[in-house]
Amino acid sequence: MSDLHDAMLTLGLSNRPKLAPRSDLLNQITERSADKNEVLEIGDKDFPLTINRSEINRKHKLVGAGCKITKFANEVLRSHRGHAAKVSGVIVRDGQIAGFEVKMMGKRFLAPKKDIVLMRGLSIPEDVYLNGADTVRVRKLLSNWIGQRDYIGTEWGGVEWLCFALARATNTVSIESAGWYKYKSSSRPDQDGKDWRYVLPHSSPLVSVNCHSLLHDSVWTLATTVFDTKNSIDRSKLPTPITHEDAWTRSMLWALETSRVLAKQGFSYERAKKDMQHRMTLAESLRPTLRQAMSDVKLALRLYFKDEPNHPRDQTTIVVADWGVATGSIGQWEVFDKDTPFAALHVRPSAFNSEKSKQAPPRRTKLRPGKVQPYRYADYVVLHEVLHSALYGDMAASQRNGGHDGKFKEMAKILGLPLRLAD
Ligand SMILES: [Zn+2]
Repeated sequence: MSDLHDAMLTLGLSNRPKLAPRSDLLNQITERSADKNEVLEIGDKDFPLTINRSEINRKHKLVGAGCKITKFANEVLRSHRGHAAKVSGVIVRDGQIAGFEVKMMGKRFLAPKKDIVLMRGLSIPEDVYLNGADTVRVRKLLSNWIGQRDYIGTEWGGVEWLCFALARATNTVSIESAGWYKYKSSSRPDQDGKDWRYVLPHSSPLVSVNCHSLLHDSVWTLATTVFDTKNSIDRSKLPTPITHEDAWTRSMLWALETSRVLAKQGFSYERAKKDMQHRMTLAESLRPTLRQAMSDVKLALRLYFKDEPNHPRDQTTIVVADWGVATGSIGQWEVFDKDTPFAALHVRPSAFNSEKSKQAPPRRTKLRPGKVQPYRYADYVVLHEVLHSALYGDMAASQRNGGHDGKFKEMAKILGLPLRLAD
């Protein structure tokens, strides 16, 4: 039994049954067992790890590095704790080091990461937990918030943006908070805070995004940790998951629910909530415009250029917020990595203000001669961005083509997009 497991039992933390005894030689490799697809169990009770022999990378840059067996090593390596060895292979999974193959006394051994420390690194094993692919993806998407960020007291855009990043990884989350915490030594009410978490209920193992917030000195500081767990969350006690097929809509529903669970104590997010709801209504009002713009652009390309639109994604989510748009722009088309199935059409809320609306004439398109259509400035922003996407796929490609080139301008004329609204 491992030390960690002993400690957990002492603390009453574990009631897991004992695993069946296994051969002492499982993580010792002999040169004879050379089947590339052989499945090997190289972990132990507390850190189970099954690998395929083909996962051992013997060309990794750490091969040849000196290392040492840690005091956490079990099974056959238990009797070698503290011994020096050499890395002969590295097992990498989802971009994380999962374990090592080491050479010691002329033999090769396989071990999970916690069993090995590199001589030139720290002498304690760090980041020993092997997260699943879903967690690695969420961590990458939330990299802006891994570590800490702080925001001006009433600023809510950070949470909204975080939720939108999360919406690229999942359609559904459960949101819960453990409540307000208060330190005895805090001399003012603004030195305390609240934790909450987003749990991805359909992931396996369960992915948990824990958000830790603290109010102090006119800012609130947010630290986020992302990990997965097989055993520590009771799915039946998770709050009802919140889901929506449209990415920005679901991210706003999550941000609204976050404001609700936080509002019970300490924080007041009424203004932020009203603003979010208002912008959701504005986005809703642009959806018919988006559908029509998509079909008009397609029709115009076919009729006038015998061409097809170049949209790189099938789905588009409309985002009415300031955080996704470059300074100086009113709208932006954004295409994310290949694992994000949607593109985002960002429109600043100021595109809806009355001064802008005065600049927007009714729309007259050659596709429907003789017809005029009331169009707001924001509707023209949508048409404009859809045209960029249809012609070039994404903004970078569009800029390489000079942004508003001859074809763009011709299409603008056909579609009834006034050129002075061309940016
Ligand atoms: Zn443009």
